[in-house]
Amino acid sequence: MFPLLLGVFRPPSAAVANIIIIMKILNLTQNYLEQNIISQAEAIDRDPVQLKQALQDLGKLKILALKVPRSLGGSGLSAQDYAHFQILVARYSGALVFLQTQHQSAASMLASCKNKILQDQYLPYMKTGKKLVGVGFSHLRRPGQPMVKAVEVDRGYLISGEVPWITGFDFFDSFIIGATLPDGKELYAMLPFENQIQSSGGSIEFSAPLELIAMTATNTVTAKLNNWLLAKDLVLNIKPKDSIHQDSRKNVIQNGFFALGCAYAALDILQQVYDKKQLAFIKQSWQSLNQEVIDCERAMFDVLDSNETVYESKLKLRGQAINLAQRCSQAAVIVSSGAANYLNNSAGRVYREALLFSVSGQTIDVMEMTLNHLLAT
Ligand SMILES: Cc1cc2nc3c(=O)[nH]c(=O)nc-3n(C[C@H](O)[C@H](O)[C@H](O)COP(=O)(O)OP(=O)(O)OC[C@H]3O[C@@H](n4cnc5c(N)ncnc54)[C@H](O)[C@@H]3O)c2cc1C
Repeated sequence: MFPLLLGVFRPPSAAVANIIIIMKILNLTQNYLEQNIISQAEAIDRDPVQLKQALQDLGKLKILALKVPRSLGGSGLSAQDYAHFQILVARYSGALVFLQTQHQSAASMLASCKNKILQDQYLPYMKTGKKLVGVGFSHLRRPGQPMVKAVEVDRGYLISGEVPWITGFDFFDSFIIGATLPDGKELYAMLPFENQIQSSGGSIEFSAPLELIAMTATNTVTAKLNNWLLAKDLVLNIKPKDSIHQDSRKNVIQNGFFALGCAYAALDILQQVYDKKQLAFIKQSWQSLNQEVIDCERAMFDVLDSNETVYESKLKLRGQAINLAQRCSQAAVIVSSGAANYLNNSAGRVYREALLFSVSGQTIDVMEMTLNHLLAT
């Protein structure tokens, strides 16, 4: 019928189709950020209403379950592709990248758990933001007495303790908590993200949003749990003792991509100021820092998927990315002069974001490496 066409046309290979999908997601995201976020970033940093709108917009673009396999309702991005997305969003808004990443992490945790019922309840609705989920488990990294304990009882688990950090109150409907069992194993389970008292007397209560110097619109809160009765079918996983430390080592490079995006955001400010002030040393500073960020980015992508690259090399790159976010954002402040001190100034905002990205997902090793880089520069 169409001999010529049949002869020439071949359906794209899976790899090519994949590249097309990723390019589409990144283009879609960049267009959205250019049109809606770039001029609103200062407001989004402080106003939960505007941040909520931005999160809903990402839902409309169907990009809120990027790492979840397509078979489970997500976009099936690889770690490399997701890292490109993180850098991109962090370049436009720290608050937006930080808020949405909690939900994307929760989606990934659900996708990799064995609880099929929970997966069916949540995963098909997470890409569009119809169901939004946060996380609260960083306290599992703290040594000493567990901050949140779970004890098995007939009808499930009783959970008590304090969660020091949960981002997304009034954005997310639920969150995944991490709690420690008496034998040290780590239990991860779905909880409501609103104050509740159970008929059994169990309770969960959240603080008011914490007043933060950066990304205060993300409504980060603490939670108190008192004998909260958790049904067994809300458990995602029970992981071996100290899994959190192994996961932190495995993912040491991932958190660094926020810092890289932040460094680029600062470099954009340098560029804008140069366009206005035309001072040659600003351009030279931009060129020199930009080259460092590009080199660091390239090195991070080179080792991201590698099991052979030793942990210490990845840790060093994480420290380098944090250091670049700090130095670039400091440069943005310097060239913006006194105006950087206005609450509404983008250099001030990016500088404060760099502070947050310096400690988010921090481990003792990351803390030490960050200090080493500071002392060396
Ligand atoms: C604005 C904001 C929002 C956040 N939102 C979330 C969220 O939504 N979900 C979430 O899970 N986390 C969240 N976090 C937590 C974030 O990832 C942590 O900041 C980060 O993991 C560092 O933990 P920490 O601040 O609690 O400090 P620390 O508890 O001090 O932990 C830092 C490191 O120090 C070690 N450490 C602590 N005390 C000791 C000690 N006495 N001796 C030796 N080592 C010690 C810990 O093992 C850890 O590795 C948020 C943090 C911020 C600032």
